[in-house]
Amino acid sequence: MEVSDLTAWVQEFARLVALERDELTALDSAIGDGDHGFNMDRGLSAAVAALEASPPESPSALFKTVGMTMISKVGGASGPLYGTAFLRMAASAGSPVDAAGFAQVLHAALEGVVARGKASVGDKTMVDALTPAVEAFDAALASGGDPFQAAADAAEKGREATIPLVARKGRASYLGERSAGHPDPGATSVTLLMRAAATTLGN
Ligand code: ADP
Ligand code: MG
Ligand code: MG
Repeated sequence: MEVSDLTAWVQEFARLVALERDELTALDSAIGDGDHGFNMDRGLSAAVAALEASPPESPSALFKTVGMTMISKVGGASGPLYGTAFLRMAASAGSPVDAAGFAQVLHAALEGVVARGKASVGDKTMVDALTPAVEAFDAALASGGDPFQAAADAAEKGREATIPLVARKGRASYLGERSAGHPDPGATSVTLLMRAAATTLGN
């Protein structure tokens, strides 16, 4: 994968988030403050504009621009969390990125989110979709399937699994037991990230 392929991934992620903006906001209205769709759309629109204004010359430069933009443009928890993920991806990406290199990039993203937010699987956060996605990517890479599709499917399952959970991190945790019965907004945006990867980078 060249920087152009990875740019297409980010653009597709931004497109899906814009499309699902109201849905993400509705999910965050149920268990948070109703701004996840707005936050993600604002950050990713700005990232796409920054990439157009000054096209990056390497995967690392691409991810760095996205990470810095998310941190500077998004006020909510998701800005620093996605921002840190993309900055860690920038630090781990070679040029070009092959499938094994992409696995490393995904691991770096997950490590960044965990380092920043200290959430574990089961806390009803982005981590609940990202962790199974990273694991499924590794497994499919080893067994010869399409790792991108496997990761997208696993993220979706991880998102579904957040529905009955009681949130232990972020704003939703203030609701206690009342946070159960709704999918986590951040886990939902992670499914869009992985679906965009399957469409633009998968077989
Ligand atoms: P805010 O909660 O500040 O309004 P957003 O609504 O944009 O920010 O993002 C909320 C999402 O952020 C949650 O649905 C959850 O997935 C994620 N999140 C919040 N806190 C954490 C954390 N400590 N670790 C990982 N993800 C988190
Ligand atoms: Mg919110
Ligand atoms: Mg907020």
